[in-house]
Amino acid sequence: MTWEPVIGLEIHAQLATETKLFCGCAVRAGAAPNTLVCPVCLGLPGALPVLNGKAVDLAILAALALGCRVEAVSVFARKNYFYPDLPKGYQISQYDRPLATGGALEWSEGGRVTRVGLVRAHLEEDAGKSLHDGFPDSDRHSYVDFNRSGVPLVEIVTRPDLRSAASAASFFERLRDILVEIGACLGNLEEGHLRCDANVSLRRAGDAALGAPVEIKNLNSFRYLERALDYEIARQASVLDGGGRVVRETRLFDEAAGRTAAMRGKELAHDYRYFPEPDLPPLAIAAERIDAARSRLPELPDARRARLTTAYGLSEYDARQVAATPALARFFEEVATRSGRPKAAANWITGEVARHLKAADARNASPGVTAEALADLIAIVDEGTISVSVAKQVLEKMWGTGRGAAEIVEAEGLTRIGDRAALEAVVRRVVAENPKPLAQFRAGKGLVFGFFVGQVMKATRGQADPVLVDELLRRELGGGA
Ligand code: ADP
Ligand code: MG
Ligand code: ZN
Repeated sequence: MTWEPVIGLEIHAQLATETKLFCGCAVRAGAAPNTLVCPVCLGLPGALPVLNGKAVDLAILAALALGCRVEAVSVFARKNYFYPDLPKGYQISQYDRPLATGGALEWSEGGRVTRVGLVRAHLEEDAGKSLHDGFPDSDRHSYVDFNRSGVPLVEIVTRPDLRSAASAASFFERLRDILVEIGACLGNLEEGHLRCDANVSLRRAGDAALGAPVEIKNLNSFRYLERALDYEIARQASVLDGGGRVVRETRLFDEAAGRTAAMRGKELAHDYRYFPEPDLPPLAIAAERIDAARSRLPELPDARRARLTTAYGLSEYDARQVAATPALARFFEEVATRSGRPKAAANWITGEVARHLKAADARNASPGVTAEALADLIAIVDEGTISVSVAKQVLEKMWGTGRGAAEIVEAEGLTRIGDRAALEAVVRRVVAENPKPLAQFRAGKGLVFGFFVGQVMKATRGQADPVLVDELLRRELGGGA
């Protein structure tokens, strides 16, 4: 039986503010435990929250970047549960009236477009941190650090639109890139700036109804997300294949073991006894505030793609590839402008440059050549000094070395052989050395012509002028096909 995975993500992103969501305490990693706290974030009786406007603005920015609708009025709500790192006994979040709704994230990978709809984006405060290990009495006691208590988060919830562990990881990474690009989040996963809960269920391929989802909590790396989902998908499939049923529950991913393990039954919304936060007024957001945020928004992938298509005459496919990341798009624009050859620039970047980047196994790595150097290489090909296949070898040698194209061509004697007499000699020798193919060609096997072209190219290390080779070979081979 083939099962189709259905995945929806809930991503918590820490908003890049100086201070916490409802008090003036600093947001800072690495400070001594419980030094960045006050009565508000310690949940002391009588302390009142005051909303941080900067956090709201960053959340609005994130919502707009994701195409969400920012609601004119949203409402804070208490999410009640008991946990040692939650001093108030409730978390201030948003529930039935979130800051923003709708939106989507779309990207293309290997020519395939994935679109993931968003349900909502809402503001909430982070909890403190329980410390279980590393103390002399860790076998008996746990400690709590409240420095993180009250740190502003935006929670972004996707529709169950993802269909594989790999594309879930891709989504998480792209979302991170966008949030970092707009300055809403610092994006450092090791520091806990982004955490992801993954919901996954399986259904028979072709079924419309969804299965019971399992939620995997607190995944803090792209790789862990992918591995946890891969494991969980396989686990659910074997339960179903064995005639069993998947129970709705919350599981934790054990990174060392590479497994998920049951943590608790899935809590439902009514377990939290949500009710509107009495200490905060509804959050009203004026249209001008949204407009101001929109004007601060940098160019996002969709818009960039559209602009590259019109401004540089790129195909939809090339524009998507080139606009994939802001860094790559900037690189493309610089090469296109310097060389005056946008199509060639796009070809090189989606072809050889992408191949080198992939080989370096670093999706975010920067190209191993400067835009100027690549533009020079394009110019040299344009002038006819070297062929495209030689240019690929030249790029290989430029990559990561800082050497220029002209210098390599010169030093290694790679200039295209356009000298008729020199080429004629090569052609004659190649034909003489291959009597059998020659006989076949003369007997009418036209395809053998390609063999001879290949031999000449090989003999000249790809440097022969292909037009000239064609002409000389036809003459030398004489009749036939
Ligand atoms: P809850 O209220 O329990 O958190 P939601 O309906 O808000 O559940 O959904 C939470 C996340 O789970 C969303 O990202 C959503 O896309 C995803 N999800 C919901 N149902 C399923 C399902 N059957 N399979 C996979 N993911 C699901
Ligand atoms: Mg949820
Ligand atoms: Zn505080």
